[in-house]
Amino acid sequence: MVRHVKALIVGSGPAGLTGAIAIAESVGSGEEVVIIDEGIEPGGQLSKQTHKFFGHEGFYASTRGFEIGNLLVKKVKSLGVEIIQQSTVTGIYEDVITVYDRVNNIVHEYLADYLLIASGATERFLTFKNNTLPGVYGAGAVQTLMNQYRVLPGESFLIVGAGNIGLIVAYQLVQAGAQVKAIVEASSRVGGYAVHANKVKRLGIPILLRHTILEAIGKDKVQGAVVAGVDERFKPIPGTEKEFVVDAICLAVGLQPNVELVAQTGAKLVYIPELGGYVPLRDENMKTTVHNVFVAGDLSGIEEATTAMIEGYIAGYNIAQELTGKSFEDKIEKMKRELEEFRRGPFSKKVRDGLRKMGIVFPEGGYREEQQTDRGPVGKLRAIIECPEAIPCNPCETSCPTGAINVGGNINGIPQIDYSKCIGCGVCVMKCPGLAIFMIQEKEEYSLVGVPYELLPVPTNGTKVKLLNFEGKEIANGEVDHVVLNNKGKTHIVFLRVPKGYEDVVRSFRLPEKAEEFICRCEEITKEDIERVIDMGITDYEELRRVLRIGMGPCGGKTCRSLTLQIISEKTGRPISEIQLGAYRPPTMPTPFEAVVKSALSENDEVSENIQGGIENE
Ligand code: SF4
Ligand code: SF4
Repeated sequence: MVRHVKALIVGSGPAGLTGAIAIAESVGSGEEVVIIDEGIEPGGQLSKQTHKFFGHEGFYASTRGFEIGNLLVKKVKSLGVEIIQQSTVTGIYEDVITVYDRVNNIVHEYLADYLLIASGATERFLTFKNNTLPGVYGAGAVQTLMNQYRVLPGESFLIVGAGNIGLIVAYQLVQAGAQVKAIVEASSRVGGYAVHANKVKRLGIPILLRHTILEAIGKDKVQGAVVAGVDERFKPIPGTEKEFVVDAICLAVGLQPNVELVAQTGAKLVYIPELGGYVPLRDENMKTTVHNVFVAGDLSGIEEATTAMIEGYIAGYNIAQELTGKSFEDKIEKMKRELEEFRRGPFSKKVRDGLRKMGIVFPEGGYREEQQTDRGPVGKLRAIIECPEAIPCNPCETSCPTGAINVGGNINGIPQIDYSKCIGCGVCVMKCPGLAIFMIQEKEEYSLVGVPYELLPVPTNGTKVKLLNFEGKEIANGEVDHVVLNNKGKTHIVFLRVPKGYEDVVRSFRLPEKAEEFICRCEEITKEDIERVIDMGITDYEELRRVLRIGMGPCGGKTCRSLTLQIISEKTGRPISEIQLGAYRPPTMPTPFEAVVKSALSENDEVSENIQGGIENE
């Protein structure tokens, strides 16, 4: 049976979701609006994004991508829009749209008055020797595995590409506990935001410009990579080869729009390299050359999630306008002004140039470009902003409770601080998505530097640390003075005591190295920890467990029990067979509390009957 809907949306990423919201809100109901999505959960790329977004509050600035996805999905569902997951639009024919439902292994047929195609983009690949070895991943796959499935696909990575995606993935990998040996970038400049690049440099990750990957080393899986410098024509320069020992290579070399479906509608495609290659020709209302087919997001030109959301709204309001015959011009105009504002900066030049080829013109400039040179009054606890480029972002301005920060009237402007108003509260540090704001204060004996911190473990007061500069280079020893925890936004501020005069150069720190030989990985107990306790005279497995919590993690001792017995044996000279194994306690695997409660609830009838019976017996 063919199902007929008013609007069919392909893709539940940022553009598809806002498109659905615009249609459902304007039409007054989401009843005949359906989103078809391939993923196992809605949100598209947003579900993989654990970093905070730039932009302004109206488009969820300073909120993490997956949280934005959750908010949009909640809104879409509350409007009655149906989201069908794990289903793929396989064909758009003249008389029907076919959708393959992977869960039920069946093809459904649809007809729609309007189509909004927000099918996003696919990753570009790179040719190099052994690029099919297991361990070579696209950046999107790494994010899916790491952030959606909680699987780290390697321990040490080489990243190819220093655009925003490569830089963000590098940072997220470090957050997840992996090592990133280097980022290589063939061009002579970092393509992503400077604040993202600074974030990874402070972690000690080198960004090798004018370098490319030549070869993945390994037989059955990646064991290393060879990179080399390139000339102006991107040709490798012989003699510049370097080897990195890594077990994963992550390619972040760009995206190309998924145009297959829109092409099937008969919409005209045009080749515009600035927009990512072939894209559908469309007007400023996101309408293609087919009267009832609209597009939005990366499919219409590779950009970023905030502009995808705005394009989704524009497409959605236009569809609603045509469906109802009512005017939503005020809403459409508001969104167009937002797009205009977001696309004024230098990072949107490519998109502006690409759109101009379609006859769509966006203005540029009109924002502040000057850096602030005033570092504020010496001795006062104050914020220092190190956000050197014009990017569309202003949470620093909107979060400051005293109005001390301004971006100069245009969201792309470089922020400046009025030090007469700064009270040193640190709110801007915790809100800034670029981690580009620091706190400093010169004291009598030492100086304080407050750095934004999003890694684990969060250090405690008094922890001795290595102080690092902008490039992640060790420059002195220091200690943690205090930590301001931000459990909601998860960007904490770690205040470091640094030698006087170092307040302008210390921008990061390294915790003391822990011994690497972990025996109990759940509780992070090392061989050294166990040997130390055995040396104290505790040579019984159960006792060691009580003292160290060894074997008390989620695995219940499956991995560490035998290793611990071996260490006891080695240290005491007793054969393993003579050492008590210790008790095996249930449960053998972590069991959700919900499951236990459910089991108790299902026995409730029996329980209440017993109670009743008990009373009667009395
Ligand atoms: S530290 Fe507080 S008062 Fe100072 S600029 Fe930041 S948010 Fe404003
Ligand atoms: S300093 Fe302001 S403009 Fe720069 S990244 Fe942070 S919040 Fe955005």
